[in-house]
Amino acid sequence: MQEQRLQEVRAVLKTVDDPELPSVSVSDLGMVHDVKIIGSQVYITMVPTFAGCPALDFIQRDVQKAVTELSWVSECEVQFTFQEKWSTDAITDEGKKQLKKHGIAPPPENYQPGNEWTVACPYCDSDFTSMENVFGPTACRSILYCTTCKNPFEAMKPVVDYVY
Ligand SMILES: [Zn+2]
Repeated sequence: MQEQRLQEVRAVLKTVDDPELPSVSVSDLGMVHDVKIIGSQVYITMVPTFAGCPALDFIQRDVQKAVTELSWVSECEVQFTFQEKWSTDAITDEGKKQLKKHGIAPPPENYQPGNEWTVACPYCDSDFTSMENVFGPTACRSILYCTTCKNPFEAMKPVVDYVY
């Protein structure tokens, strides 16, 4: 029973999107650190992604709302832990696929801080892309331009060792 409830909560977390990254769930972003169920109460610990993204309150509210919709849940508490470090490596393959589908190049894997990285165009996979505006619409993304298919696109910046 406990195991089944845990699976139900995990399934719900796959339906809650990060408001900054439409259609990528908090679960696929690797933000869910721990789920505890005590009777009808659910305690979720999450790891925040980019501190520059002011979406934590929204995520907290959305997760709470979605989980309490499960019929057996009486209460859901969502907490962010700043002890755990999130990195862009925590994004699942499904999450990366969703990012690409929405014209956002996923961050590079196994990125070493200080290294340059090449970004493949999410539309045509070309490596011939140029950094147009490193600041982008939010602190977590940059705007790039693909010289092959001429599309502008966004790229998620790699985060591996984030200092709060
Ligand atoms: Zn392209």
